[in-house]
Amino acid sequence: MGKKKNKTLNIVSAQPEIKYNKSLRKSMFRSVGEVCQCCGEKRTKQNGLVLTVHHILPVRAGGLATRENGLVACADCHTAVHDYIDPLGDVGRNFWQDMADYILSLPKATEECRARFSSGEEYIKKAA
Ligand SMILES: [Zn+2]
Ligand SMILES: [Zn+2]
Repeated sequence: MGKKKNKTLNIVSAQPEIKYNKSLRKSMFRSVGEVCQCCGEKRTKQNGLVLTVHHILPVRAGGLATRENGLVACADCHTAVHDYIDPLGDVGRNFWQDMADYILSLPKATEECRARFSSGEEYIKKAA
């Protein structure tokens, strides 16, 4: 029994992760200077801003927890992005165009944010 359980655990850990683990999140936050890529707000000890990592290619479309597929966003912006994208439906050409339009409408979105979303269709090819 114990042997079988270990084997199962090995298989699970060998698969690509769907959730961003703590160390990868921390590393990604550092690489963008602890700044939300949607609103440009910086996390400080004083403001207690909560940073998260958003999957650019959604998990439902095969998106994984990789650096390339991640965008640093504060909790408020992350919620707002999902309020916008979740009803969009299928992740196809219109999805990325709508997303790009949305990002352009955010006055303080960073260049990194715009660049990542404008390359969205590349993620479809990689995940296919
Ligand atoms: Zn934000
Ligand atoms: Zn997200």
